[in-house]
Amino acid sequence: MEIKKLLEDSGHYLVNTYNRFPIILRKGRGMKVWGADGKEYLDFVGGIAVNVLGHCHPKVVVAIQKQAQRLIHVSNLYHIEPQIKLAKLLVEHSFTDKVFFCNSGAEANEAAIKLARKYAKEHLDKDKFEIITAVNSFHGRTLATVTATGQEKFQKGFEPLVPGFKHTAFNDISALESAITQNTCAVMLEPLQGEGGVKIPDSDYLKKVRDLCNKHELLLILDEVQTGMGRTGKLFAYEHFNAAPDIVTLAKGLGSGVPIGAMLTTDKAASAFVPGSHASTFGGNPLVCAAAIATMETILEDGFMFDQCTRMGEYLRKELRSLQKEYPAVIADIRGMGLLVGMEITMDGSSIVKACMEKGLLLNCTAGNVLRFTPPLIVHERDIDSMLDILDEVLSNVT
Ligand SMILES: *Cc1c(COP(=O)(O)O)cnc(C)c1O
Repeated sequence: MEIKKLLEDSGHYLVNTYNRFPIILRKGRGMKVWGADGKEYLDFVGGIAVNVLGHCHPKVVVAIQKQAQRLIHVSNLYHIEPQIKLAKLLVEHSFTDKVFFCNSGAEANEAAIKLARKYAKEHLDKDKFEIITAVNSFHGRTLATVTATGQEKFQKGFEPLVPGFKHTAFNDISALESAITQNTCAVMLEPLQGEGGVKIPDSDYLKKVRDLCNKHELLLILDEVQTGMGRTGKLFAYEHFNAAPDIVTLAKGLGSGVPIGAMLTTDKAASAFVPGSHASTFGGNPLVCAAAIATMETILEDGFMFDQCTRMGEYLRKELRSLQKEYPAVIADIRGMGLLVGMEITMDGSSIVKACMEKGLLLNCTAGNVLRFTPPLIVHERDIDSMLDILDEVLSNVT
């Protein structure tokens, strides 16, 4: 009765922006979450690449508790200890020099877009404002980032969109080169496309993009909101491709679930922002930074998490390929890096996701027919085996 009423109230009081499953999740530990009715689920969604350490990791919980007792929020009019410490950690483990904190992936990309425009106007040419992004990309839901997003379905109804964006085919260096004009100021890409269906570029693509950006004096913005924080087996996905960006954005996995986003950049590009250029009331407040520090420190401990992620990603793809041999008519492709893995199927994915949920497995489907696996990086072989048992059972029922 209580659950039925809550679901009713949910429909009654919340703006209807999500196609939600009719369950209420109430508790989580590690790889598992529990519904309000007590049903247990194995979580291969992980908040969509957010819960990198699993649910309620003790180090993150304690860090939040301690910080909440000391200081939750003060304005960015003052220096904030956990913010300084987190910025230092991020800079020391990346190519970048400086960090701006905000509250989400879209805001991190919004900051990147604003910085690129301002930098180009001040340091290059006042007519340079255009940003080239990829078809099928996803960069967020604010007006500028939804314009940057190369998918019409997210833009429909919100016109007029923000001027100054152009989309070209992902993983096509000559298409990118011919899109560059004297008005171009930056190229913005996901190192691998997440929402777009887990698309991996050729291994030399990003390096060629970097070279092109150098040649035309363009800033390279890499959106690592989904791929960052160890997801691909390295702290940042760009590390696989030998292509250091000028700006990199982070959010999802950064704070284990507290709302935090970050834009990392070089001293050179950062110089375009001065006091008053950009700001965020909550950006980098003590509470969220404490959670992010605990997350980063745990990920970085011994580099253990990266090896684990790489090994488990390989295991997951190997086992999915075995499953593909069983269901060649349904499973079209398996791809991914680390623990960002996609399984393209020849049918609509939503019925599979629903059937898995009923059997106690949370899975996500993106781009209509790509089952996306983004489990916490702490996932174990036995979790992958349990997941595969359920998926196998569900697939056997649809074929
Ligand atoms: C999720 C995502 C975003 C948007 O992040 P929000 O926190 O929802 O604003 C942007 N870029 C990529 C690559 C993402 O996966």
